[in-house]
Amino acid sequence: MRVEVDRDRCEGNAVCVGIAPALFDLDEDDYAVVKLDPVPADQEDLAEQSIAECPRAALLRRD
Ligand code: SF4
Repeated sequence: MRVEVDRDRCEGNAVCVGIAPALFDLDEDDYAVVKLDPVPADQEDLAEQSIAECPRAALLRRD
């Protein structure tokens, strides 16, 4: 799987970074970035949790 960040929606609150710090980081402008593309199998559950819990619905699954 792959995860995309919708920068029009992301507000940089780092919820995704808290859930999956190996997968997400914030860039210098406080937008989330995906560090592992595609998402490794052992990170997929955390990726799904991040997608579900992002308060701005800014994370999109791309298979
Ligand atoms: S949880 Fe959502 S809004 Fe917050 S930094 Fe991550 S992608 Fe952006």
